[in-house]
Amino acid sequence: MTVVTRFAPSPTGFLHVGNLRTALFNFLIARKAGGRFILRLDDTDPERSTQEFADAIQRDLEWLGIEWDQLEKQSDRFDRYAAAADELRAKDRFYEAWETPTELDLKRKKQLNMGQPPVYDRAALSLSDDEKTALRAERGAGVWRFKLDHQRIEWTDGILGDLSIDAASVSDPVLIRADGQVLYTIASVVDDTDMGVTHVVRGSDHVTNTATQIQIIEALDKTTPAFAHHSLLTGPQGEALSKRLGTLALRDLREQGMEPMALLSHMARIGSSQPVELVDSIDALAEGFDLEHFGSAPTKFDVEDLWPLTARVLHETPFELVADDIAALGVPADIAPAFWDVARANITRKADMADWWALFRHGATPLVDDEDRDFIAEAFAMLPDAPYDADTWGTWTSAVKDATGRKGKGLFMPLRKAVTGRERGPEMVDVMRLLQVKPTL
Ligand code: GLU
Repeated sequence: MTVVTRFAPSPTGFLHVGNLRTALFNFLIARKAGGRFILRLDDTDPERSTQEFADAIQRDLEWLGIEWDQLEKQSDRFDRYAAAADELRAKDRFYEAWETPTELDLKRKKQLNMGQPPVYDRAALSLSDDEKTALRAERGAGVWRFKLDHQRIEWTDGILGDLSIDAASVSDPVLIRADGQVLYTIASVVDDTDMGVTHVVRGSDHVTNTATQIQIIEALDKTTPAFAHHSLLTGPQGEALSKRLGTLALRDLREQGMEPMALLSHMARIGSSQPVELVDSIDALAEGFDLEHFGSAPTKFDVEDLWPLTARVLHETPFELVADDIAALGVPADIAPAFWDVARANITRKADMADWWALFRHGATPLVDDEDRDFIAEAFAMLPDAPYDADTWGTWTSAVKDATGRKGKGLFMPLRKAVTGRERGPEMVDVMRLLQVKPTL
């Protein structure tokens, strides 16, 4: 059996780290099994879905190297959904209902007051044909609800284990709205079964959907895929992340300079019993991926954890992969590899290397304590003009030492601050070797 998974975002917003978790799990499962991964745009809502978001979703996934084998759009498949609706109607599992949202609300409040679960009471099922005709004339088309079979719905979840949900505790789901819009609950089932999806991994906010979808799949005589529900992300303190997810959009992280493998390595492991391990390819991630390692507890996510990983990715990035970026900064080809060796150990994100190049190219504004001013003036006077080489620092500092009697930290630290304008940074031998201009006070 070919493993087929899918990621099914609605193009109604930008992807965030929560979506990424779902996308990545599905992608890795397919990749590990040598299967197929579908990107499906759930765009049945014409008011909220836009091409801009659809494009942005693809761009984000491409950035991360999450490649899809097949691209689908629900808006291309309305015929299929209509056919499934007809089938449910013919099987007496679909019924029209005319309650307004206010009426439904009132019913729910009454039920809650009486200590009952707020489940739709199926009043529409007992309408006579005359009553239906009257309602249709008065209110127009109704919504279409799927008639659940009131039994327990059971499945073995790939993460949550054995689950059992009493169908009677769930309202008959609306699958088609009064304005004719097909809703995700049925569209998704039709797509998953038509496209041969074998495994569905999604957030635990979908558990109840899964229960109803299993019954819809059975009503349509199709094969039920394996389901797994991952926990939702929370903030570092365990606080709900839902409101803040908008600020954790993938495209923002990209613009801030996050490295894809840092993000992927982190997201593939948090919430599992395996430690986060930085890997250098998506295939390596796929190899070590197994839903069995994940649990039901909410997963803490702190975006700050991603920056040290991004720095580590950069530290391990070979020159060839950044040669173009470095050339674009204007670094001469003969010193570009040496520049990268020095820069990569001293940056958190790739863009930071521009600061180091500016320093080497133009010199820094010296950082000089008052009591060191004369010393620095004397030392700078002893330094020849650029270009410098690997011996410059050693030759220069021993001459300065002899002339001033300074040594150790008292010699080196003021020189470092004066040359680089900072207290920390690369080895001074390397700084001098890359420096293009003579420092001045
Ligand atoms: N479009 C749905 C969502 O974004 C897909 C859920 C699913 O994976 O079935 O929530």
